[in-house]
Amino acid sequence: MEWSPSSWRSKPAAQNVKYADEDHLRRVLSKIATLPPLVAPSEASFQSQNLTGTGLERFWQIERLRYQLSQVQENKAFLLHAGDCAESFDACTHENITAKIGLILSFSLILIWGSRTPVVRIGRIAGQYAKPRSSPTEKIGDRVVPSFRGDNVNGLDPEDRTPNPDRLLSAYFHSTTTLNYIRAILSSGFASLSHPRDWSLSHVRSAALKKEFEDIVASLSDALDFSRTIGIETGSESAIGYERGGGLGAFGAVDLYTSHEGLMLDYEEALTRKLRNPLLQSEESQSYYNTSAHFLWIGDRTRQITGAHIEYFRGIRNPIGMKVGPSMESEELVRVLDVLNPDRESGRVTLITRYGAGKIEKYLASHITAVKQSEHPVIWVCDPMHGNTVTSSLGLKTRQFRDIVEELTLCLRIHEQCNSRLGGVSLEFTGELNEEGFSVTECLGGSMELSEDELGLRYQSFCDPRLNFEQSLDVAFLVSKYLKE
Ligand code: PEP
Ligand code: MN
Repeated sequence: MEWSPSSWRSKPAAQNVKYADEDHLRRVLSKIATLPPLVAPSEASFQSQNLTGTGLERFWQIERLRYQLSQVQENKAFLLHAGDCAESFDACTHENITAKIGLILSFSLILIWGSRTPVVRIGRIAGQYAKPRSSPTEKIGDRVVPSFRGDNVNGLDPEDRTPNPDRLLSAYFHSTTTLNYIRAILSSGFASLSHPRDWSLSHVRSAALKKEFEDIVASLSDALDFSRTIGIETGSESAIGYERGGGLGAFGAVDLYTSHEGLMLDYEEALTRKLRNPLLQSEESQSYYNTSAHFLWIGDRTRQITGAHIEYFRGIRNPIGMKVGPSMESEELVRVLDVLNPDRESGRVTLITRYGAGKIEKYLASHITAVKQSEHPVIWVCDPMHGNTVTSSLGLKTRQFRDIVEELTLCLRIHEQCNSRLGGVSLEFTGELNEEGFSVTECLGGSMELSEDELGLRYQSFCDPRLNFEQSLDVAFLVSKYLKE
């Protein structure tokens, strides 16, 4: 069947948003379709001219990510996919962006230091606005109102729940601003290894955790010093990049890719462009790239095999992810892979599993076995967040740190038992601080032992609860220790 950026329109779209004024929507989409790409496949890695004798796939951002993901699949790198459950327009501030990037860098530094494995970093950032909801309406006080669907659809304010197409345009510009600032901070040396102490350790409450991180930084400074003394140049101090001593990548000092759930297909279609594929030899060789992010994923609620989302995703050249939860049948999983990756290209599909600590043992092994038998190349990633959401006694959505760790630990063990490999983690975390410099209080436990009565103190997420800076470092040390073994 022919694919086009709009062929999804003939299929049922789960989580579809109904706009009252279709003409208004069309006008907005036409405008977005004329705006420049947010990410361009031809945007060269910052220092790509320093790389010689390597394939072109190493140079261009989207292709470069595909290549790096194929490395993850081959056990040569580890993937960190992380960020907010949902970004908001109001939280698009320089402090928040800096804190998010700081946490992603700190986390990956811990992983690299422990495992001596390169880390591929993909942020849930610069476009993660739309949210799937379990119900079209929600109860606020005594009122039943349409659910909040994310800042690119409607407002969090119960009075502002009518979908407004102008919000899609606003999402485009907030993504642009976010990306612009990420590029600015990363190219100004923020990721340099002389800076880890600036990545916002100041508010870490647990002295032991702080010390553990400080020890890594100190050893690293020593190692860099030693290399300099004996005249080994690493190429840059940002050896935390995917490749040591070169290949520094997309945002200047290190590679950092962007991603979001590809939920609003109207928007994704408007940013889908037919562009020259740098890997194909002739000038006419073009592919369809989604230029709103390097990596997009299909959510657990929109992955129906005959649905619009699978149809859209099968035609884009970007590396893609798909959430896999308990409702996925093994046989269905393989059929979806046949559709998404008929040529079985390495680095193309990442499966992000999210069963919950209590369910993973029931499902993961059979999913792994089915995929193995099908010989589909995939990258397995553990999302220990989405199957472990509970409601606290005070009615706040939360997650227990111990459930998160339990799912992660079981996931690592099951992969080992199945002779498979966990290629990465997908987390909802934030380095965001409130005005007084304290981190958020949304998940329970961790080395800071966050208790239920502390949850309300700085609960800032308007979607799912995120790990804060400290709790994220706890997870980083745990994974890093495992990878070391
Ligand atoms: C998410 O990643 O925020 C999300 C909604 O996940 P899932 O599709 O797995 O429920
Ligand atoms: Mn979420």
